Amino acid sequence: MESILKVEHLEKYYGNRGNVTKAVDDISFTVTQGEYIGIMGASGSGKTTLLNCISTIDSATAGHIFIRGQDVTQLKAKELSRFRREQLGFIFQEFNLLDTLTAFENIALALTVIGTPAKEIDGRVHNVAKRLEIDSILGKYPYQLSGGQQQRIAIARAIVNEPRVLLLDEPLGALDLKLRQDMQYELIRLKHELGITFIYVTHDQEEALTLSDTIVVMSEGRIQQIGTPIDIYNEPINSFVADFIGESNILNGLMIKDKQVSFAGHDFECVDEGFGEQAPVDVVIRPEDIYIFDPSEAAMLTGTVTSSIFKGVHYEMMVQTPEGYEFMVQDYHCFEAGQEVGLLVKPFDIHVMKKERVCNTFEGKMIDSTHVEFLGTTFECNEVPDMEPDAPVKVEVDFRHVILEDNEEDGKLTGEVKFILYKGNHYHLTVFTDWDEDIFVDTTDVWDDGDRVGIRIAPENIRIIHN
Ligand code: ADP
Repeated sequence: MESILKVEHLEKYYGNRGNVTKAVDDISFTVTQGEYIGIMGASGSGKTTLLNCISTIDSATAGHIFIRGQDVTQLKAKELSRFRREQLGFIFQEFNLLDTLTAFENIALALTVIGTPAKEIDGRVHNVAKRLEIDSILGKYPYQLSGGQQQRIAIARAIVNEPRVLLLDEPLGALDLKLRQDMQYELIRLKHELGITFIYVTHDQEEALTLSDTIVVMSEGRIQQIGTPIDIYNEPINSFVADFIGESNILNGLMIKDKQVSFAGHDFECVDEGFGEQAPVDVVIRPEDIYIFDPSEAAMLTGTVTSSIFKGVHYEMMVQTPEGYEFMVQDYHCFEAGQEVGLLVKPFDIHVMKKERVCNTFEGKMIDSTHVEFLGTTFECNEVPDMEPDAPVKVEVDFRHVILEDNEEDGKLTGEVKFILYKGNHYHLTVFTDWDEDIFVDTTDVWDDGDRVGIRIAPENIRIIHN
C-alpha cells in the first residue's frame, strides 16, 4: 500500500541548554493511505507536539516528515501554507467556529479565502453538509447550535477541501458520552467513505481501540509500541503499555527457565521462552483471563474476595491471596466479599515481559571517599576506598531503597510522582526529579499522581560501581 506519511527520527525540544524538554524524542513510523492512526498516551507524553509537527503548525528540532513524498520540514513559509491548505484538514477539541459567520460560511471559509468560484463553493458545502446530515442548519449561527451540531460543522469545514490527511486532536473531548459515541461511528463512516488518512490524538483508550487501525502508544516523547488494537491489547510490549490499555494485573516475576515462571509465591507453566534462567520479568494477566470458582483442587491460587462490584456485564472482584498478593478478576458470576475462592490462569494467558530495568542506575562522580554526586546532588555513601575525587562512577539504587517524604525539605532532592503502577503487593512509581531525570521507587505507601515529594537514600543503599 502507498505510504502517505513517513515520520523519520523526529525530535522536538522545547527550552534551551540546561532546561530542555524532549517533547518528542526520536520518533519514526509510517502511515499508509486511508489508515486510521490513533496516537495515545498520558497527558504530557508528547501527542500534541507530534501532531503539531506533522500538521506543520510547529517546526521539528530534527528529523523529517514526508507527506505524499514531500518533506514538509524543508518547506518555506509560503509553500507550507499552500501545502497545508491543499493536503491537510484539522479538527480540534475546541471547534473554533467563527460566531459572526453562519454554519455555511464557516464551512466555506477556507474555499472563499483562496478564491474558489461561488458556484463550486455552494456545491462542495452542500455535498459535505448532506454527508454529515447538517443541510438544515447551514443558515444558523454557531451560538444557535448544540455541541454535537457545532462539531459536525467543524468536521465539514475540515473535509470540504478534500484533504489527504485529517489531523484530529481530542476532537470529541468536549462532547458528552452519548454524543461522543455517535460521533465515533460518524468518523468511522467518514473514513470508509472518503478514504482519507486520519491521524487522531486521544488519551481515551476506548476511543483509540474502537476507531484506530493502528495505535501508537507514547510515553515521555517516545513510542512505546505501535500495533493494531488487538496486538496492543493482547500482546503489550511492556508493563507500561499493559497498564495503559485496559485493566491488568501486573506483578514482578522470575523466569525460572523456559515455559516456567514464578510469581505471587507460586510457580506457573507459561508459553514464553528465551528469557534465560532466573531472570526477573514482569508478568501481566488480564482480569478477564483469571478463572474464579469455589475452592477446589483445580485452583492454582486460593484467596479471599475483598470487594465485588457489578460493572454492567461482568463483576469486578478483588481477591487477596494468603501470600499477600491482590488480583483483579472479572467474571459473569458474582463471588461476594468475604468468600473463599480458587483461581486459575491458563499458560497462554500469562504474559511475560522483559523488565525495562531492575534497579535505578545513574552516572555519577566521587566527591571524596564517603560522598558521591548524582542527580545533581551530593549523597553520603559507605566508604569507597581507592577512589580519586572526581572519578566518574556508576551508581545503583534498588527501587525499594528510595525513600519518599511528604515534606519536600526532608529529602536530599525533590520531585513529582508521575506514573503509578500497582504490582499486586506494592506500587512502582516513577518520580520526575527536579534535576529532570527519573528515579523509580517501590513502596507500599499510597501516593497520588502529581504529589510533590522529598527523596532520600540511606548511605548503605547507594551502590558504587567503578566505571
Ligand atoms: P500531550 O499532548 O501528550 O499532553 P504535549 O505534546 O502537549 O503532550 O507536551 C509534551 C511535553 O512538552 C510536556 O512536557 C509539555 O510540558 C512540553 N511542552 C509542550 N509544549 C510546550 C511549549 N510550547 N513550551 C515548552 N514546553 C512545552
